Amino acid sequence: MCGVPHHSSETYIARLVDAGYKVAICEQLEESGKGKTLVKREVTRVVTPGTNVDDAAAEEHYIAGVGLSEYFYIVTYLNVSTGDIYSLKVPKETSALIGELSTSNVKEIVVGHSFEEDYIKHYTDHEGILVSIHASTDIDAVFSHLYEHLPTPHEQKCVRRLLSYVEKTQKRTLLHLKKAERIEATQTMRMDANTIRHLEILRTMIKDQERGSLFWLLNHTKTAMGGRFLKRQLLRPLLNASVLNTRYDFLDALNKEFITKDELGELLKNVYDLERIVGRISYGNANGKDLLRLRKSLSVLPDFRRHLQSLELEYATFLAESIDSLADLHQELEKALKDEQPMTIREGNMFKEGFDETLDELRVVHLDVNEWLKNLEKEEREKTGVKKLKVGYNRVFGYYIEVPKGQVRNIKDEHGYTRKQTLVNAERYITEELKEKERIILSSEEKSVQREYDLFIELRDKIRDKIPILQKNAEILAEVDMFTALSTASEKLDLVRPVLTEEPVIDIRDSRHVVVEKVMEDPFVPNDIRMDDKTDILLITGPNMSGKSTYMRQLALTAILAQIGSFVPARSARLPVFDQLFTRIGASDDLISGKSTFMVEMLDANHALQNATEKSLILFDEIGRGTSTYDGMALAQAIIEYIHAKIGAKTLFSTHYHELTDLEDHLPRLQNIHVTAEEEGDTIKFHHKVEPGRAKSSYGINVAALAKLPKSLIKRSSDILAALEDDGKKPGLPGGHDLFSLATVEAEEEEAHPYDEIIAAIESMDPDEMKPIDALMALYKLKEELKNRK
Ligand code: ATP
Repeated sequence: MCGVPHHSSETYIARLVDAGYKVAICEQLEESGKGKTLVKREVTRVVTPGTNVDDAAAEEHYIAGVGLSEYFYIVTYLNVSTGDIYSLKVPKETSALIGELSTSNVKEIVVGHSFEEDYIKHYTDHEGILVSIHASTDIDAVFSHLYEHLPTPHEQKCVRRLLSYVEKTQKRTLLHLKKAERIEATQTMRMDANTIRHLEILRTMIKDQERGSLFWLLNHTKTAMGGRFLKRQLLRPLLNASVLNTRYDFLDALNKEFITKDELGELLKNVYDLERIVGRISYGNANGKDLLRLRKSLSVLPDFRRHLQSLELEYATFLAESIDSLADLHQELEKALKDEQPMTIREGNMFKEGFDETLDELRVVHLDVNEWLKNLEKEEREKTGVKKLKVGYNRVFGYYIEVPKGQVRNIKDEHGYTRKQTLVNAERYITEELKEKERIILSSEEKSVQREYDLFIELRDKIRDKIPILQKNAEILAEVDMFTALSTASEKLDLVRPVLTEEPVIDIRDSRHVVVEKVMEDPFVPNDIRMDDKTDILLITGPNMSGKSTYMRQLALTAILAQIGSFVPARSARLPVFDQLFTRIGASDDLISGKSTFMVEMLDANHALQNATEKSLILFDEIGRGTSTYDGMALAQAIIEYIHAKIGAKTLFSTHYHELTDLEDHLPRLQNIHVTAEEEGDTIKFHHKVEPGRAKSSYGINVAALAKLPKSLIKRSSDILAALEDDGKKPGLPGGHDLFSLATVEAEEEEAHPYDEIIAAIESMDPDEMKPIDALMALYKLKEELKNRK
């Protein structure tokens, strides 16, 4: 048992919910009147990780429902704060389900009793996601429009179970929930969670932060809604070429009419997160500040429409015409709300004068009373002769007349004062008259606060009726916000309009990797990516660090950008619409599930080989390197042959197995390309230029030299290499004359650690025992020493 102050309960609730608990909020529902022993108390809401909407700063998150049909898992996502619901199917495979759920920020999963225990354990143990079992699928009939359009009973049931759970825990009718949107594999480009991570679309791999990701680079949106819209697009790029071309037209128009674009951007700066405000209105936790934000957001709509229309573009006009500016509601909010709003709706001071007659009357009583109090003070001063007499108010004792200690003798019985409180320097009194006024004041104040509360609820309910219109407006604002952001990106990053081809042809001239380019100090070297309709596979060789992965990734990012409707980083770009994107790039041990790098690599490869079609894009970066050379090479070759013979997907395959380049002679749809580099003595100079044909060598040892491995080690490895290349001659065995002599190693160590003495000096110091001046001198000496050694 422990207690926390109720006004700071939110922090504690958030902490508990974060730790995966559910918190039941129990409230007293009636006044504790005289003579009543028991008052009604009830659980008014259960806050769970997936349904927590209180934390405004929190990242967008979902509660997911998972159901089963014969061949599929059914997944429903619900964002309680914006009301978005999505429904989709994934193949009935563990990895597919886990992969799907990890693409969205899911905080809680709701399942029926029949769900397998293993899964539940996986989520609770590995992913830290709460799994709630909820058997019922009964829900209020008012919600039927949210799911009845879904084609199968399984999909409907999954949404119903989730809604039933939300209704049961939230204990309110949520009017802002939107009709479930069905995400179909045939409408969006499929990428699994690994691909999204490897390509650093939303977050970077190493630091797991937004900075450095593709989203970070593109996100010039002005509203939270626009940012979310862009994120959703990046996770599910589109397949419909005509929609994409409409988007390109939009960007062209915005790029051309840049003044209009800037004006739209300026207007968007005044738009608040309408989706969340609407959520709070529906939830019943909106306050005056929310309505003020709504008012401000509505105020831009007429101009917003006008600017959209001025683009003279069919789609822009369509969007403009779909906006309902809700002029009446806006006017009412203007008339009603003061420009400053309190935090809660229980303290009054929200409504303007002239908005409501009853409220004005109650306020007049208040004003009159203030006047009366001032007069009273004057009169009492005259009556008692105490110049410093004051009429005041405090919360505990109410109104009082205060007389300084030195003047107390002036107070006579006939003044009718009753002593109420003694202070160090003063006495406080009350009179019958003042008591009577106090009653009037307090009750008028109470009444006016109550009146404001009632008015607020009335206004909120009016807005509730407009929720679908507000949501539609929010969607349009978000979409246009994304377009203006992409237009800004196209200007800042020098992007071009891509051409989507019907044929399986890729022809990208001077392609760039926008994120690498952005964070690099040296100039980025653009490269062409070309595959005609007779080429499916590009086999890429080249030294380590030359830019093979970068080249592969830039094709993937270009495809994603093109398929969200953005322009792309190149001088010109022609490419087809890809139905799926598969990557196996870089090492990533799945330590949690105990799989080795090589195992993860094989699982990823299998996933691609099983699911890719001839319309897919596959990027395999050094597949097979995680095992012995011959095993690795054999697997790599077999994978390439399989893709060549059975899939026909456009594939970039990088490798250090130079032997594989011979495949070009046997596989007609495969071409060799390589990234150029030049030997410079021990080390190597990278040109980062991609050219046809195979690389001369791996230059692995040169790269190792660049990394400053000990010189003797580099020399030794060159010797071993020479021996190996010399027709399979065995390298000199350890112990032979080729090995490092003790002398060279020692000499090298000497050279390798020029700062040993300084380190030893620092280690021998004991700062606790040193006088400040000695410490300072020692520091000077160390710096001097360091300078000499450089
Ligand atoms: P490894 O074989 O060791 O995995 P890699 O060939 O895949 O290496 P990348 O990781 O793609 O090499 O690139 C290494 C670095 O080279 C990048 O971090 C980037 O700084 C630079 N680089 C890559 N491509 C280019 C380019 N086109 N222009 C300029 N710099 C580039």
